[in-house]
Amino acid sequence: MTTPKSAALSNVGKIRSNNQDSGYAGQQLFVVADGMGGHAGGDVASAIAIRRIRETDKQYTSPGDAEFALQSSLIAANQLLAETVFEHQELTGMGTTVSALLRVGDSMTIAHIGDSRIYLWRDDELSQITADHTFVQRLVDSGRITAEEAAVHPRRSVLMRVLGDVDAAPEIDTAIIGTQPGDRWLICSDGLSSYLAEDRIKKALAAGLDADQTTRRLVKETLDHGAPDNVTVVVVDVDDTGDSSVEPPVTVGSASAPLTFEGEAGRKSLRLPTILLHPLKVASTPEDSHFEPESDEYLAELIAEDRRRRRRRRVTWLVALVVAVGALVAGLFLAYQWTQDHYYVGERNGTVVIYKGVQQTLGPITLSEVHEVTDVRVDDLPNYTQQTVEDTINADSLSDARAIVERLSDAVAR
Ligand code: CA
Repeated sequence: MTTPKSAALSNVGKIRSNNQDSGYAGQQLFVVADGMGGHAGGDVASAIAIRRIRETDKQYTSPGDAEFALQSSLIAANQLLAETVFEHQELTGMGTTVSALLRVGDSMTIAHIGDSRIYLWRDDELSQITADHTFVQRLVDSGRITAEEAAVHPRRSVLMRVLGDVDAAPEIDTAIIGTQPGDRWLICSDGLSSYLAEDRIKKALAAGLDADQTTRRLVKETLDHGAPDNVTVVVVDVDDTGDSSVEPPVTVGSASAPLTFEGEAGRKSLRLPTILLHPLKVASTPEDSHFEPESDEYLAELIAEDRRRRRRRRVTWLVALVVAVGALVAGLFLAYQWTQDHYYVGERNGTVVIYKGVQQTLGPITLSEVHEVTDVRVDDLPNYTQQTVEDTINADSLSDARAIVERLSDAVAR
């Protein structure tokens, strides 16, 4: 058996009830699509897109031709989605990301929309080739938040651009990038890139496994991390043959099953059992990816909301700080109170005295004070008792301290 040069794998994950991702690896074409549309439509959207786009899996004479064909197929898929929604109103609002590679010799043609990603692993460096069309990426690009903040931002699943029934002329990113023997390309849905750190992804790509084993390892690692979302990966290896194909072509995820979406009233309840079975898990999962059309007013509103959220977070921090400081002060006060219930006997200026508090000091703070001065002179005490008094004698209470002084006084008399 020959080593597979490319592979595709998709998994529903551990929380979701259905797989809304689709993927494809064939002769020249490699694609991932991540569908969305709440309880209905996401799986349909990615399946429709992949089935339409995979028709472009052919040999092209130039990268420019391939780029044109690929971009046209995404626009055709967009049109198909709009038509499907027109005929099946229950699918309104469905959409899908698409990230595709079409190889022509030593060039990779790229078409991309949404937040699935294409990475290139070359010379042990991992580079993200596509940009996420998300609200948080907008915030990062404009310097409002850092990439680290974006990764945990509550609105990180809001997409600004997808294929769907909203925009007749969606803005699709395209590019032509040279590729060379040794390159390994990865296409994945956010179910991988949002939950597996890039150094883990890089390690999996660098592990010396073939394309098929690499997709398995990546999916397994995501499952080990809880896989809250559907996860789809396509790995494409480039060697000096000019060919990255897998024979026969592989379709994975919802596009691999027959399309069924007519009169399915039951769809609406699909997510309920998950919520009932794992309320905590569901609560801790990010909301489903969803598309919110891009307009200046809407963006301004999101940014204003982000600013309010940051302010709320600052206030929360401030309250937490005040509470912590308050607790510390209260603790110190209680500790001080405790020391003031204690007495001990010692000496001052050659006289036996009763101290209130404890012998220890807290830095410059003395935790005791003279409570009673007695008329017993330390010099009058027997030698060994003098030493004991200088070392101080603990008392259980004030009366106990007085009893100790009484005994010292008796020792003088003898
Ligand atoms: Ca996803």
